[in-house]
Amino acid sequence: MADPDDAEQAVVDLVRRFVDEQVRPVARQLEHEDAYPDQLIELMKQMGIFGLAIPEPAGGSLVSTACYAAVTAELARGWMSLAGAMGGHTVVAKLLVLFGTAEQKSRYLPRMATGEIRAAMALTEPGGGSDLQAMRTTARRESDDYLVSGSKTWITNAQRAGLIAVLCKTDPAAAPPHRGISILLAEKGPGLTVGEKLPKLGYRGVESCELFFDEFRVPADAVLGGAEGRGFAQMMKGLEIGRIQVAARAPGVAQAAFDDSLAYAQQREAFGQPIWRHQSIGNYLAGMATSITAARQLIRYAAERLDAGQRCDLEAGMAKLFASEMCMQVTLDAIRIHGGQGYSTEIDIERYFRDAPLMIVGEGTNEIQRNVIVRQLIERGGLG
Ligand SMILES: Cc1cc2nc3c(=O)[nH]c(=O)nc-3n(C[C@H](O)[C@H](O)[C@H](O)COP(=O)(O)OP(=O)(O)OC[C@H]3O[C@@H](n4cnc5c(N)ncnc54)[C@H](O)[C@@H]3O)c2cc1C
Repeated sequence: MADPDDAEQAVVDLVRRFVDEQVRPVARQLEHEDAYPDQLIELMKQMGIFGLAIPEPAGGSLVSTACYAAVTAELARGWMSLAGAMGGHTVVAKLLVLFGTAEQKSRYLPRMATGEIRAAMALTEPGGGSDLQAMRTTARRESDDYLVSGSKTWITNAQRAGLIAVLCKTDPAAAPPHRGISILLAEKGPGLTVGEKLPKLGYRGVESCELFFDEFRVPADAVLGGAEGRGFAQMMKGLEIGRIQVAARAPGVAQAAFDDSLAYAQQREAFGQPIWRHQSIGNYLAGMATSITAARQLIRYAAERLDAGQRCDLEAGMAKLFASEMCMQVTLDAIRIHGGQGYSTEIDIERYFRDAPLMIVGEGTNEIQRNVIVRQLIERGGLG
């Protein structure tokens, strides 16, 4: 029998082949058409990608977080939007695995594992995403239901999601506010309107939308874990894998930019020699490869701590901060290496450059990551 590392490597290799053969040839066109990648999502379902964070007894094929991160990076190397299609889905799966009641798990996890149900997570509101405790969306109990009122924005996968994990206040008067926050596992119905796709700089194809709740009725047993007031802590835990997921997109996008740059630098000539022989260009390439490798190691470190059951908000924060800033720099350097070509919409470099900024904003901005990191450093008495 193959050891687990071989089995996980086989999963990553399978996704790598999928990306090279099926994704890269069509990504540019889908991106420019802002077209939803139905066929690619079908293939991802068949490969079991939506079940990688779900244990086998619940219908999934759970892999280590490091393997999950490597799969994410591969998808992002092909087209970051595909990694987006599984991002919120995975956080919701993780929330269910960690905190769901037996009924909630059996209701959703098997169908989430196959991708039949895909999930979205709804945290951010028009009034703000960083200060979650200031959220305005409320859920008022009325006999066996909650009535949800308010709005969310930038919710990825909103139109296609069969399940939306909605962070809301079940006790708006609670002090401190996080004690009044719960997660509702919501299926669509009257009272919930999903807005049009918001226009975006990059990360096209997958939709990010507003949600409007108008006395939207959710059964009382849809509170994650069956008890109110735990949603904030639950979401903070779920966001650990969310942050690792967003971090993992960065070396994927950056590697695509690097691979294209390495090829171009050998083929493009200036002053009678391939441009990589000019020291500035060589230095860019050396720096890109070094920082991609460093980001991968930080992500692996955070992933291993998560799987070991150790606290990893510091490590996931560092990974997300470093990897996303690295990706910004690498995609910019890729433009420099490509000269005028780098600015053309006929090659992929400009797409990588447009995709990179999402990673500095999503799943907690990098300013928020720095706050988390420094608080943890003080609490732990340094780096240890
Ligand atoms: C394409 C896309 C997809 C997204 N998908 C989802 C999704 O699926 N689900 C979801 O819930 N959200 C999603 N988001 C929202 C995203 O998580 C938020 O945009 C992000 O958390 C920041 O919130 P905000 O935009 O309200 O910025 P704000 O919170 O208004 O912050 C504005 C600025 O102030 C800074 N700031 C705020 N507070 C502090 C502080 N304490 N210290 C230092 N600086 C601070 C921020 O870092 C930022 O620079 C998505 C966003 C985008 C662009």
